[in-house]
Amino acid sequence: MAGRKPGVIALFDVDGTLTAPRKVVTQEMLEFMQKLKEVVTVGVVGGSDLVKISEQLGKTVITDYDYVFSENGLVAYKSGQLIGTQSLKSFLGEDKLKEFINFTLHYIADLDIPIKRGTFIEFRSGMLNVSPIGRNCSQEERDEFEKFDKVHNIRSKMVSVLRDKFAHLNLTFSIGGQISFDVFPHGWDKTYCLSYLEGFKEIHFFGDKTYKGGNDYEIFESERTIGHTVVSPDDTAKQCRSLFLNH
Ligand SMILES: [Mg+2]
Repeated sequence: MAGRKPGVIALFDVDGTLTAPRKVVTQEMLEFMQKLKEVVTVGVVGGSDLVKISEQLGKTVITDYDYVFSENGLVAYKSGQLIGTQSLKSFLGEDKLKEFINFTLHYIADLDIPIKRGTFIEFRSGMLNVSPIGRNCSQEERDEFEKFDKVHNIRSKMVSVLRDKFAHLNLTFSIGGQISFDVFPHGWDKTYCLSYLEGFKEIHFFGDKTYKGGNDYEIFESERTIGHTVVSPDDTAKQCRSLFLNH
């Protein structure tokens, strides 16, 4: 494509950056991205799977952008073609996974908390989600657990035990929401997708949750990227206009 800056990529978080939170992208933003694609390489990286990303960015998402990284890049597309996949199962292997799951279930079995429900471990392609009360509790039970956890630190104690016990597996533990925490290999945050972008000398990343603990923090802070914090899709377009479209 003539006129494209070589070696430069503009890489975007999805939710809150290209779309309003949990909303569908606007036609205006879609058109803006196509215009941007005329001057730089454009990529998107989201934590969700491709189905959920397509719901927000449209069915043609993998051909609309030069790079699409779903699940933080565990599934990667370039110009509409699948270029890589990774999963917890293939990365850790069945033996290590089983060791971790067995220990975690034993720990939960021995845990004395007011109530327990079901689905204590949810197996996802890139992570395990662990819940001491069980994910299929009601909203009321969730709220009660959250209060109980604030006093008794059930999750943080559990995480510190698991972190010690499985130090050799290099796992990251992330406590979020009310009732659970996520477990995934170190580096499987949004920085994971950077391994596909070795050829670029300038990687501009745009995200809305770039603060510590936010899901854009690691890639925003990475020395491989030039980070830009945005507050809305309009802000994203505005910053891109002044960075890339100012002639
Ligand atoms: Mg976001």
